[in-house]
Amino acid sequence: MATLPRMKKLASYVNGSWVAGTGPAHTLYNPATEEAIAETSTEGIDFAAALDHARQKGGPALRALSFAERGKLLQRMAKAIHDAREELLALAVANGGNTRGDAKFDVDGASATLAAYAELGKELGDTHLLVDGDRVQLGRTARYQGVHVRVPRRGVAVHVNAFNFPAWGLCEKAATALLAGMPVLSKPATSTAALSYRMVEIFVHENILPEGALSLVAGSPGDLLDHLAGQDVLAFTGSSDTARSLRGLPNVIGQSVHVNIEADSLNAAVLAPDVEPGSETWQLFLVDVVRDMTQKAGQKCTAIRRVFVPEARFDQVAEALGERLGAIRVGNPAEQGVTMGPVSSAAQLRDVRSGIERLASQTEALFGGTGEVTPVGVPAGKGYFVGPVLRAARDPRAARVVHEHEVFGPVVTLMPYSGDADEAAELVALGSGGLVASAYADERDWAQAAILALAPWNGRIYLGSAKMAAQSMGPGTVLASLVHGGPGRAGGGEELGGLRGMALYQQRTAVQGDKGMLKFLPGKDD
Ligand code: NAP
Repeated sequence: MATLPRMKKLASYVNGSWVAGTGPAHTLYNPATEEAIAETSTEGIDFAAALDHARQKGGPALRALSFAERGKLLQRMAKAIHDAREELLALAVANGGNTRGDAKFDVDGASATLAAYAELGKELGDTHLLVDGDRVQLGRTARYQGVHVRVPRRGVAVHVNAFNFPAWGLCEKAATALLAGMPVLSKPATSTAALSYRMVEIFVHENILPEGALSLVAGSPGDLLDHLAGQDVLAFTGSSDTARSLRGLPNVIGQSVHVNIEADSLNAAVLAPDVEPGSETWQLFLVDVVRDMTQKAGQKCTAIRRVFVPEARFDQVAEALGERLGAIRVGNPAEQGVTMGPVSSAAQLRDVRSGIERLASQTEALFGGTGEVTPVGVPAGKGYFVGPVLRAARDPRAARVVHEHEVFGPVVTLMPYSGDADEAAELVALGSGGLVASAYADERDWAQAAILALAPWNGRIYLGSAKMAAQSMGPGTVLASLVHGGPGRAGGGEELGGLRGMALYQQRTAVQGDKGMLKFLPGKDD
């Protein structure tokens, strides 16, 4: 059950204190019951002052700490989340429409990512700057050298997040930036902000971070982004349309604000011709597709949207997926036995419904029609529900809409291909760049060809095979140790990946000079 009392008022945490906005409030709902559970406003908040506070208080305080010390802060944040786990899971169910499993994915993902970056901080140790790569000899002798160093930018990292991961989205970005030494101002999506709000409330209550190191804007960003300047960073997760407008802000362009975009993606799964029905790899493929369709009601940026299978397997795959989808129980996630909840808001439901209609114009129904469903455990007519939908496009090249329009819900299109890895990659590339592509194969030559052909178009490649099946969490799980982001439509960004994700928050500077002058730098000096 939700722990928020009815109509809790969410405040923002800026300038080292909680500030409630004035003016008309935005209401947050339980998407299963449509019950209003909280409201928030950010009107009247002085965003310029909030950013200055972070830059002037949070920045110096973090930079005074070594990586190991910053890592300890992240460890305390991870523990604080873990200690409040049950309460946070209940909030994810109430405000996000998450099943308990979906909620764990978000909340445990948040603490795991913080813990992973805490560990990285420990490994980096008692130092304040990173040396990037080897030293190079620049002159006739080894005396004149060059080296690259990475130091924290002197601004604030503004994080604008999507509605689907209010816990993980907040923490994965914050972990990277804080470890790199930059203060964070986080703005979750308004419709599901209750969970992010509560997490920051816990961090503040536990007094984990130095003043100014973490701020929260719980609602509309107002003119926040107009105050970004050249030492600041904007890391955005959300739709391509919003991304486009943020990239184009005059101050962002004019002052070369560092921007990272994580946007839409029509992630693809490809089944190789060597995978026999009933084999371990076949089962893994089916489990992964159905998990991605139904976990968080398909509202995962990494969820599989397009599935390519050898022509000869098309009917068997359609039947096997239909059977598994038939066992999904859609309803109020607070009810026992429900395996898929609603989408997160009325606006999302409208988007998903219109997306399915667009798909229907160029595809045929295999399962679930256009998503009509009678959910269990909700008052009649209530809730933002859509059932799992499997569509078919027998001619993948003709069905352009499948590769051009992301339906952010429990919707997948099944398509045939010849079995050739290069052809599969060509079809995947019709999606114009993705976060992750998965390929299910046991034959190494096929997998090798698929990796080479898929890599330019995807930020991550997941190889599903019999030998790793028992250890896999599927392609939809983003890991702290591997990069997250993708080219083209996916935004061209890169987050996480250990040290790699920290680069956004650091200036890489080449330093050249006498070897003796560079002696203070960590690492080998000759
Ligand atoms: P969205 O409508 O683009 O909103 C994303 C965030 O941007 C929200 O916090 C929103 O705030 C904020 N925002 C909207 N307009 C803004 C503006 N003019 N200035 C500053 N901030 C603004 O996306 P969404 O509906 O929340 O998320 C769904 C989309 O995100 C999907 O397309 C999905 O593929 C993508 N996504 C991508 C990833 C990834 O890692 N690549 C992960 C998750 C989701 P308000 O809520 O207050 O409007």
